[in-house]
Amino acid sequence: MQNLRNDNKEKAITQNLWNDDEYRALPDLGGLVYRSNLLGRDRTVANIFGGNTSAKLELPDFAGRNTRVMYVKASGSDLLTMKARDFAVLRLDEMEPLFARESMTDEQMTDYLAYTVFEPGRPRQSIETLLHTFVPFPHVDHTHPDAIISLACTSAGETTARKLFGERMSWVDYIQPGFTLSRWIGQRVHENPHIECVIMGKHGLVTWGDDSKSCYDNTIRIIQEAEAYILEQRNGKAVFGAVKAPALDKTARQALLTDILPFVRGQVSAKRSTILAYDDSDEVLDYVGRERTGVVSQLGAACPDHLIHVKRQPLFVNWTPEEGAEILKTRLQEGIADYKMRYSDYFNANKRDGDELRDASPRVVLIPGLGMINTGKDAMDADVSRQLYHRAIAVIGGSEALGGFDSLSAAEAYKIEYWPLELYKLKLRPPDRDLAGKVALITGAASGIGRATAYRMAQEGAHVVIADINIEEAEQVAADLVKRFGFKRGIAVSCNVTRSAAT
Ligand SMILES: [Zn+2]
Repeated sequence: MQNLRNDNKEKAITQNLWNDDEYRALPDLGGLVYRSNLLGRDRTVANIFGGNTSAKLELPDFAGRNTRVMYVKASGSDLLTMKARDFAVLRLDEMEPLFARESMTDEQMTDYLAYTVFEPGRPRQSIETLLHTFVPFPHVDHTHPDAIISLACTSAGETTARKLFGERMSWVDYIQPGFTLSRWIGQRVHENPHIECVIMGKHGLVTWGDDSKSCYDNTIRIIQEAEAYILEQRNGKAVFGAVKAPALDKTARQALLTDILPFVRGQVSAKRSTILAYDDSDEVLDYVGRERTGVVSQLGAACPDHLIHVKRQPLFVNWTPEEGAEILKTRLQEGIADYKMRYSDYFNANKRDGDELRDASPRVVLIPGLGMINTGKDAMDADVSRQLYHRAIAVIGGSEALGGFDSLSAAEAYKIEYWPLELYKLKLRPPDRDLAGKVALITGAASGIGRATAYRMAQEGAHVVIADINIEEAEQVAADLVKRFGFKRGIAVSCNVTRSAAT
């Protein structure tokens, strides 16, 4: 058995990563591209695909007239990797009058914003565009930082945040993103021009500045203050309880995985073929083995933005390594069947006209002693779920240190998970090909017919294992498949088919 630390892992304080040389090399859109990438570089600040940024600039339009515009992150982009072309650009003078309105439905807002487009052919703007419009500063960040959500996901969140930030902060209670939330945030900043941030209950943070550097500095400083406070409160406390199931050692984990991964894949692939990711990082092993994890993991999602990839709850498998592999399989089978039933009940209790049940299988499976398994329609999808659940562990840990994690209700979670504007992000991705969710193993795949088959299968959506005696060539083919078709589309393994042990 591997030794575990006595306390749960505690994150060090976030670093301010701003670098003037890097900024000068990427000055596009008033530093907006650089700032966005920089925020995404630290996933505790900006989770994958989460958060959004903006810059208000003046530009000549198609006829040469000076025009006030706002660049804002497009729906479905990721801050870390986005380029100038991944921002929508809209006319500010057309958007600002909306601040005077009392209300707008999502449909009215989306239709209206379509008419404010400054440059045709760009992707659709983020769902949270109007909050950027209504905050009267040239540069605005909206992020979902672990430490801020930890504060925002406790029942005394506002009181705690007030104690920490005093009059430098304004608070808005949880409400589904849209026109009203944007207007509330804009009002807070207009009415309290001295404040430095708005904290959104159960959701995230809004910060701003006159230029990209001051905006980034403000975002990081506010996060650092929250982190320092949480560290002080946590003070080495084992927030998830005592160790109940110490992690198996690496060899035992691998042996068990070989046995159960195909089994799990079968159980979650009833509706469509599914790819799994596995995570046995120290942080995950520690979390799954603690006494209270079976309870706190079921309280709900750590951020509305996670829901579409982790669902409201993970499946926590009540098992300890001493019970052995066969009992684990039984618990997995029962656990997954029960999860699907509970998920269908949640759907039926909350559905509205036109909603269609999404795959009812868990996206996150937590197994004491072994780690975390994530499911997805391809390796990237499973990996996004994996990355987001790391954020959930950090958020829940912080909230528990501050008095107890308090998440969105089932009804609130459903509204986000089945929100047409959220589902739109999924539609932006290319449609599934014939071999989506399949894994193909091809021997002799580094050359000739094997290689040609590998390319064809990867093109059709499969993840292809390139097995060849020539590992260097196999790695080259695998790397090219990844470059052309995406994350883990090619995986190289050394294999000599003339030896039975190798095959
Ligand atoms: Zn948000």
